[in-house]
Amino acid sequence: MAISSHPDIATLMTCSAGSTPEALCAVVTSHLSMCPICLEDLRSMESIGVALFEELEPVKTDASTPNIGATETDYRLGGDAASADGDVPSPLVEVIGSNLDSLTWQQLAPGIWNFTIPMTAQLKGDLRLIKLDPGSKLPEHRHKGEELILVLRGSYRNGTGSFKPGDFAELDDENKSPMIAKQDGCILLIGNEAMPAFIGQLS
Ligand SMILES: [Zn+2]
Repeated sequence: MAISSHPDIATLMTCSAGSTPEALCAVVTSHLSMCPICLEDLRSMESIGVALFEELEPVKTDASTPNIGATETDYRLGGDAASADGDVPSPLVEVIGSNLDSLTWQQLAPGIWNFTIPMTAQLKGDLRLIKLDPGSKLPEHRHKGEELILVLRGSYRNGTGSFKPGDFAELDDENKSPMIAKQDGCILLIGNEAMPAFIGQLS
């Protein structure tokens, strides 16, 4: 089924420009690795940007074309699709491997599992995978900043709708209703500017 929830263009552009904390940008680039629509949008926006830059700049420089996404981070677009042999998005394969089932999950509460994605000290933010068993609920929680969520497997619903693999959501304090895994459970990639509040609520 086609992806129905995408980052807005401003989110794509600020990540591409390297001005988004790396943990948030990793969620955006992971979406890009699963979503040809957003990848195409970003490519066309970048070519407009390059054209404008060339018009503004009378002296031709040899500055290279902006790279797609996360040039300042350890996360790269490895290809135009999620890795072939697993459901880990290609930008994360180098960090956590390609198989979500081979990770060592830590139980936070009944039906709720966590895997924290290691980031080097220079990278900013909090990046983790959360696995919800069927029907389990990630409680309503406050956000200290932006929280970006990408579904990697299964599906969940909240106050705004249903989300399935590849779907992207941007949460803030206006939108913090509980997330409930559907009958197939779900695995989510969650990026935050700081450690998310639900971790403290659950442990
Ligand atoms: Zn998209």
